[in-house]
Parts: sequence; C-alpha cells; structure tokens
Amino acid sequence: MTEQTSRRILLLMSPATYRAGAFLNAARHLHLEVVVGIDLPETLAEYWHVPLGLDFNDPEASLRTIIDYHREHPLAAVLSVDDSASELAARACAALHLPHNSPQAAEAARDKLLMRTLMSRGGAPCPVFRPFRLSEDPHWIANQVSYPCVVKPLRLSGSRGVIRANNPQEFVPAFLRLKRLLLSEGYVEGETSILVEDFIPGFEVALEGLLTDGQLKVLALFDKPDPLDGPFFEETIYVTPSRLPEQTQAEIARCVALASASLGLRTGPVHAELRVNEQGPWMLEIAGRSIGGLCSTVLEFGSGLCLEELILRHAIGEDVAGVEREEQAAGVMMIPIPAAGLLKGVHGVEEARQVPLITGIEITAKLNYSLVPLPEGASYLGFIFARGQTPAEVEAAIRQAHRLLHFEIRPELPILRPV
Ligand code: ADP
Repeated sequence: MTEQTSRRILLLMSPATYRAGAFLNAARHLHLEVVVGIDLPETLAEYWHVPLGLDFNDPEASLRTIIDYHREHPLAAVLSVDDSASELAARACAALHLPHNSPQAAEAARDKLLMRTLMSRGGAPCPVFRPFRLSEDPHWIANQVSYPCVVKPLRLSGSRGVIRANNPQEFVPAFLRLKRLLLSEGYVEGETSILVEDFIPGFEVALEGLLTDGQLKVLALFDKPDPLDGPFFEETIYVTPSRLPEQTQAEIARCVALASASLGLRTGPVHAELRVNEQGPWMLEIAGRSIGGLCSTVLEFGSGLCLEELILRHAIGEDVAGVEREEQAAGVMMIPIPAAGLLKGVHGVEEARQVPLITGIEITAKLNYSLVPLPEGASYLGFIFARGQTPAEVEAAIRQAHRLLHFEIRPELPILRPV
C-alpha cells in the first residue's frame, strides 16, 4: 500500500447525523483523505455531486458500490460515524480485508434481541427478556410478563420507543404506542418483534471505550445524575469522571469487556449503557460506535486530541494505547424537549453562556420546526457543555445554565380536513 492510499478513509453517515462535523474536522486535522459515503438515493447523490451516494436499506448494492470504489481508490479504513451503517461498514471491511468487527458482531450490537441473547449466553449480567411479535395480542402478553418491565423496539436508538410499564393496565397502551411508532417507521406488523424485559432499578452510567484485538480501553466513564425511572428515558446530563467508587468502576469496565466479548466485538469504539445497583453493574446496551449527539465535544485526550481523532488514528492502525483523557471534569446536557409543538423562540442563551464553567451552548433545534418528545422523537433541543475541577461543580453549572434557558413552544394546530 502506498503512503497515499494508506491515508484514505471512507466515512459512512446518514444525512441527519450529528456526528459528521466532528469526524470531518478530525480527519482534516490528521491530514487524512476523507470520502463520505452518505445514505442518499442515487439520483439525489448525482444531483448534489455527492461522490458516494449509498442506500443503507440496500446493503448488497451499497457493498458493491464500496468495493468498486475501493478498486479505483484504495481505502485504508471504512467507518460508520453512527449506528446507521455500522453493519455495512463491517461487511465492507470484511470484503476489503480491513480490520473491523465481524459482520455478525456488528449486527449483534444493533439488534437488541440478538444482543441480549449473546450477552446472557456469554454471562454478562442483563435483564430477563422475552421477544414478542407486534401482531400478538397485548392483553395476552400483559399476562405473560413480570412487572415493572420495559417494552422496546429491536433496532431504534436514542431511547425511542422504550417505555416502562408497572402493571398490565400500563402495559397495553405502552405496547400499542410502540406498535404505532414502529408501523409509522415502515416496519411490517407480521414480520416485526419487540422486546419486553425486566426493569432494572439503579444509577445509570455510560462507558466510552476503544477495543483493540478484543482488549477494552476505557476512555471515559460518565455518570448520569438525573434519575431515569421512566415511563420514558430521556437522556439529560452526562458527567465524567464518575463519582462511583473505584471498585465499582472496575466492575463496570469488566462487565463491558465481558459484554463486548459475548457479542464478538473486537475492534473500534464502543459506547455502553449500564445500571448499577446493590447487585452490581447490569448491561443495558452496547453499541459499536462512539457517543452520540454533540456529546463527544467534552472529551479531550493527551495534547488536545479529540475523541474522533483518536478513533480515526486507531482505525488506520496507529497505536493509541497510551492516550489518556485529560484530568479536568467535564459534562454535557442533552437538552430535553419539554413539550410537543413548534419551536417559536429560544431565550436566555447569552445569559446561560455567562455561567462560570460553561464552555458552550449549541441549540440544534430549528425555529418553526416541530418538536417531538420521547418516546416518538429522535432529537434534542441542543447541548450545554461545561468543564471544571470537580464533577459536582460541572453538574451544578449545567443545571444553572439550563434554568436560564427558555424555549417558546406553540402547540401545533390539528390539520382540519374538509368533511
Ligand atoms: P436505545 O438503544 O434506544 O438507547 P436502550 O435499550 O439503551 O435503547 O434503552 C434506552 C434507555 O432506557 C436506557 O438508557 C435506560 O435508561 C432505559 N432502559 C432500557 N432498558 C431498561 C431496563 N431493562 N431497565 C431499566 N431501564 C432501562
């Protein structure tokens, strides 16, 4: 491989991803040649002169396009910047003999039923789970499961469609709500399953890690100080370093390493969500990608390296084993959507920016666009970032900045149809 070919990477992304900017900037910093493979219909890709338009819903065709592209322009790495194409990236790497997770492991990190099946087989502590068909009678299912439980889709992300039910009366509407969401997303009733699993009480954490030959390196452990007890599970504040005892943190890392091995994940970034209670850590989920949204902005590693630079350097085969996160505490809030409606105004951003320790506020929701809260919605109002000496002061600064923000949301008028 020549010097030039070894520096060309393909980044797969969906058009709506929050992650594009950070990865593209990182690649520029590292002087990598980037090709963006974007999920766009071919005609639009040609129209907009996108070099590599791909249809993520047609993996066979996308794979052929990537292989053909590689023949002309050899690639050193293929990476999905988010969940949308992690399986395609794994299949492309397998076809091009590039290091990556196996396609089976990538699928297990996307499909919650396969994930649970492999995790429990591999001995990683996780909730009791059962799949059901969307076409089954929810009243019947309600009597088959124990409470409190959580219903969830197999392949959505960002807590979409994840709903807690405390009893059969709550279960039926929760199931029907998830069913409506899945049908609106194009899933077919007779062919789609959902998962019902025990609700695991406890404190939630997120672990950001990097796998090399199956060995986990913990990059950051985030506490999620807001209780996540349902019925919906909106992410809010993440703060690192964790305030949990060292021993608990070590148990969490062991749990994630075991879960990764159970799924067959061996290389690249992982983002895991866990609950911790008196019985120890429990795996909720592990994804073969880095942290979502704009959250990675708060992570900095030795000599100012950002998370995406670390991931890209790792992907092209550089040794990053010695890289550690800087020592300061850091935090981010994914600003929750308080109500459905049209966003008409955002106030207090300048005041919130003045709060000591606040390093940035990004409002990503667009004025006059519909806001859809969980469990149906798929976005946040924006992000608040902070940095300081201790996790406690970072958390307090984020809360203070959030209190200063005011979002004007006007209910949307129902569409009137002529009778
Ligand atoms: P997603 O991939 O959409 O983020 P998860 O399975 O990670 O879906 O669930 C999203 C959130 O829902 C979790 O971060 C957690 O707060 C909550 N949750 C999911 N499953 C459980 C469970 N079994 N017990 C308790 N909370 C859960």
